[in-house]
Amino acid sequence: MKKAAIITIGSELLEGLILNKNAQFLCQELKNLGYRVVKVSTVGDDLISISEEVKTLLLKVDLLILTGGLGPTQDDLTRDAVAKVLNRSLKLNEELLSKIKEKIKKYHSEIPQNIERQALVIDGAEVLDNPVGSAPGQLLTVDGKIVILLPGPPRELIPMFNALKDRLRTPDALYQVVLKYYSIPEAVLEDLLKDILYSQNIVEVATMADHVEGVRLRLTTHMKNKEYLDEMVKKILDKTGEHLYGVNDEKMEEVVVRLLKDRKKTLAVAESCTGGMLSSLVVNVPGASEVFIGGVVAYSNDLKKHILGVREDTLKKHGAVSEECVQEMTEGLKKLTGADICVSISGIAGPSGGTPEKPVGTVFIDIFEHEHITMRYNFTGDRNMIRTRSAMMALENLRK
Ligand code: ATP
Ligand code: MG
Repeated sequence: MKKAAIITIGSELLEGLILNKNAQFLCQELKNLGYRVVKVSTVGDDLISISEEVKTLLLKVDLLILTGGLGPTQDDLTRDAVAKVLNRSLKLNEELLSKIKEKIKKYHSEIPQNIERQALVIDGAEVLDNPVGSAPGQLLTVDGKIVILLPGPPRELIPMFNALKDRLRTPDALYQVVLKYYSIPEAVLEDLLKDILYSQNIVEVATMADHVEGVRLRLTTHMKNKEYLDEMVKKILDKTGEHLYGVNDEKMEEVVVRLLKDRKKTLAVAESCTGGMLSSLVVNVPGASEVFIGGVVAYSNDLKKHILGVREDTLKKHGAVSEECVQEMTEGLKKLTGADICVSISGIAGPSGGTPEKPVGTVFIDIFEHEHITMRYNFTGDRNMIRTRSAMMALENLRK
C-alpha cells in the first residue's frame, strides 16, 4: 500500500485559532484513494520548520501534501521551503502572473506588488489551477514520489484536491457508500439490517449518529468489490428505503427543497423555539427561492397572537407548547403567506421551563397542507441540540 503524509502549515493552527479542517479532509480522502497516511504534521509559518519536515517526510512516503502558505505575503513560505529542500530554483511565470492579475482585478481596483510571489513556480512543477482563489497550487514529481502544494483555505483546497483525485487513485482505492437516516434510531436500524450487514466480511460497516445529520450507515470496501456493495445497498434499501433521506453528501434540506420543486409546492414556516433555524437551513440550499416563501419567528405569545392569529383562549388553556397552538400557527401562516405547505414548531428548548407534563425537550410540529399532521416529540440534549433536532425533524416530516 502506498504511503502518504500531510504537512499543514500556519501559525494560527498551532495557536489553536482555527480548526485543522484540511487535515481531516485529506486523511479521509487519501484513505479512500488507497493510501496509508503515516503522518500529519502541523508547522508554523517558518522556513526552517517547513523545510525540515519536508526533508524528513519525503524519505518516508510516496505522496506528500502541503497545505497553506501559498499566499502573497512574507509569511507565505511553502514554495520557498520546498524549492530549497529539493534544491530547485523558483522562477517567475509571466503567463501565470497575468492570469492571477486578471483574477484579482475582478475584486480589487489595485493590484498589490507582492502578488508576484504567487506566480513563483518551482522548477519542474506543474501549476494547479485554483478555481476559487488567487493562489495556484503546484505538483512535482521527485524520484517517483509526488509532492503537492495546495492553498490553506479549505474552500480553495477542496475543489483543487477533488480535481486531482483521478490521478492520485491507487490500486488499493476504496469504494464507499453512506446511507443517511433521521427518524429511525441507530439500534432499530441495525436490528432491521443485521442479517445483511453481519453475514459477510467483504464490506466494512460503521454507524455514526448525531443530532445534525442523524444516523449514517457507512459501507466501505475495496474498489474491486464495488458490485457486491451496490447489491448490498439494494437489499438494505428494500428494507429501509422509506426511512432513508439521503446518500453520501446529500443534506436533508437539499432533499426537501428538491422534492418541493418536483411537486411544485411552496413552503412557509412559523418558528418559535427554533428561532429561524428551519428557515436558515432551507435558505442555505441554492435555488430555495423557487419554493420558499418565507418565515415568521414568533417567539413570544404576543407575536403568536398578533401575527399568526393564535387565540388568547388557546394559549391560556393549552399553552404555547401544544398541539392546538402549532395548528393555529400554521393556519395563521397560511392566511398570511398563501403557501401550499405551512410548518410550525413550538417547544421547550430548556434548560429551564419544563413541567412534569411537558418536560424540557417537548416539541410540537405541525405540517398543514390540506389537513393538519401534528407531531409531539420528547427530544433529549442541550438547548442547541433540542432546537436542531426540532428543525431537522420538521424537514424529515416534510420529506415524508
Ligand atoms: P491565502 O492566499 O489565503 O493567504 P495561503 O495558502 O497562504 O492562502 P494560509 O495563509 O496558510 O493559506 O491560510 C489562509 C487561511 O486559510 C487561514 O487563515 C485559515 O483561515 C485557512 N486555513 C489554512 N490552513 C487551514 C487548515 N489546515 N484548516 C483549516 N483552515 C485553514
Ligand atoms: Mg497566507
